[in-house]
Amino acid sequence: MTGTKKNIMLTPGPTPLPPEVLAALSRPILHHRTEAFGEIFQFVLDAMRRVYMTKNRVLMASASGTGAMESAVVNLLSPGDEALVYSTGAFGDRFAAILKAHGLSPAVISEEWGHAAKADKLAAALKQHQKTKAVFLQQTDTSTGVLNDIKALAAAVRASSDAIVVVDAVSSLAAEEFHMDDWGVDVALTASQKGLMNAPGLAFAAISERAWTLVQSARLPKFYFDWKTYDKSLKARETPYTPAVAMVAAQAEALKLIEKISLKGMWKRTAVLADYTRAWARKNGLELFATDPAHILTGVRLPDGVDGSSMLAEILREEGISIADGQLNLKGKIIRIAHMGYISKADLDAGFAALEKRLAKVQAA
Ligand code: PMP
Repeated sequence: MTGTKKNIMLTPGPTPLPPEVLAALSRPILHHRTEAFGEIFQFVLDAMRRVYMTKNRVLMASASGTGAMESAVVNLLSPGDEALVYSTGAFGDRFAAILKAHGLSPAVISEEWGHAAKADKLAAALKQHQKTKAVFLQQTDTSTGVLNDIKALAAAVRASSDAIVVVDAVSSLAAEEFHMDDWGVDVALTASQKGLMNAPGLAFAAISERAWTLVQSARLPKFYFDWKTYDKSLKARETPYTPAVAMVAAQAEALKLIEKISLKGMWKRTAVLADYTRAWARKNGLELFATDPAHILTGVRLPDGVDGSSMLAEILREEGISIADGQLNLKGKIIRIAHMGYISKADLDAGFAALEKRLAKVQAA
């Protein structure tokens, strides 16, 4: 029956899709070495440049966000290179894990989950690690709903080192204010299934000229994710390997919608839903998790005695509403309500009603 029921997704990726995007996913498949596909692909790359707020080259591969993260590591660094990760949650830790998987030993600084990265702490760490080639950051760490001030962090890197700034904007792009060029970001990574309002499966990287000089000399092994190969195909408006063609067509539709709403309109939409959710939490006596909260997601602490995991499983089973659980040691203790992409106030209302009903039951017991 689940296939026929209307499910409501309040999860921070995948997110619900606008009808125009769903329709594009069901159109006949184009061959990828054709004029017709080339035109769509070129539009996607040009529109992505506008979403990133950059004049830099943008590359696309068929992968999820983690693929974009790994592609940055292998294309920017060589064996023995020094790298610094500033982790504010599970996705910062993932950058460190990817670097280690490729034989590097990154310096890792971190904040307690829910707290944002601090520019002065980053500058101090870079003074200690002067050979750092690349600094890895998240704009929003989706594990907690924290927002990092990328403008201030990138400025701190520029002021204290020659390292390039790599930003995971997987859960923030098109949903939170982001200015790649004005903020001095060298590499910005994202994926299709969150603020970009598409199905999961496309990964994007925007790369500055400064970062491209590293790409040309980076010696970590790679094949599928070699950015130089993708770059060479751009002239022919192609990707080197068969792309997820249906998803590229769907991404074009989503980007047209984003342009219609305007980027500012998208950022505002996310902020309005975040304010609405924070007000709901306050009204219900629920504490917000992040001290430096993002707009893309609200993490809400559950009262003691509530088993969040079984409550969310029941809400999904009985009402078809998906709400994200906490990750790792926050599992069952917080819930994560997303605001990015095509999520609407009505979707939130349905989620709030389902939560209130069950929280009231626990409180009455
Ligand atoms: N970084 C962030 C900030 C994310 O939110 C996610 C996905 N939740 C990822 C990276 C990884 O993306 P994926 O699951 O698409 O591999």
